[in-house]
Amino acid sequence: SDDGDKNSKDTLVMATNAEFPPYEFRDGDKIVGIDAEVAQAIADKLGMELKIEDMAFDSIIPAVTSGKADFGAAGLTVTEDRKKNVDFTDTYAKATQVIMVKEDSDVAGPDNLEGKKIGVQLGTTGDMYAGDIKDAEVERYNKGFEAVQAVQQGKIDAVVIDGEPAKEFVKQAEGIKILDEAFTEEEYALAVDKGNDDLLKKINDALNDLKENGKLDEIVDKYINA
Ligand code: GLN
Repeated sequence: SDDGDKNSKDTLVMATNAEFPPYEFRDGDKIVGIDAEVAQAIADKLGMELKIEDMAFDSIIPAVTSGKADFGAAGLTVTEDRKKNVDFTDTYAKATQVIMVKEDSDVAGPDNLEGKKIGVQLGTTGDMYAGDIKDAEVERYNKGFEAVQAVQQGKIDAVVIDGEPAKEFVKQAEGIKILDEAFTEEEYALAVDKGNDDLLKKINDALNDLKENGKLDEIVDKYINA
């Protein structure tokens, strides 16, 4: 058997960045969360063993295109730019980008971000949007939560980040709030190497089953609506 070879046929390697609750985070030694469970359910359907590789967020797409990983699952937003390098599966979640600030901040919405110091996680869509804001100074962090802590410490004015991790981070960051007005709406999908139609179809078929039999909702409810 090919046991021990992570690229062997019967193992499905997932690239992620386990700093993104409730989609992927560490619980002791284990990586858990919506993406981890969806990926496990897909691997089960395909009769394969799932192996999760934790890495920097901006290494996920390179891992997929180089074949180090079979797919990426990381609350990955579908973007035109990323489609140049990877193929996205059908989407499995809707998401938003939100703004996090200090409770007494004068920033009340996206229009007030001009000229501000904005923190983002490196390589995310938040990074992309912040870069488009007039005269904004973008500070890039390896972990979203580090950006939130920098707001707490007054080093930056705001963070642009995905809505669900924002809800988790705000619980751990005293004096910080999430603004009501969402910055943008996006959709998450898994990413496979460009042209890997065989795996793309297998994952889409499995995903479709999970949508139809209620398993996807069950996983999401366990982490989000609980
Ligand atoms: N959804 C965002 C993106 O794809 C952030 C994902 C993440 O930080 N894991 O860029």
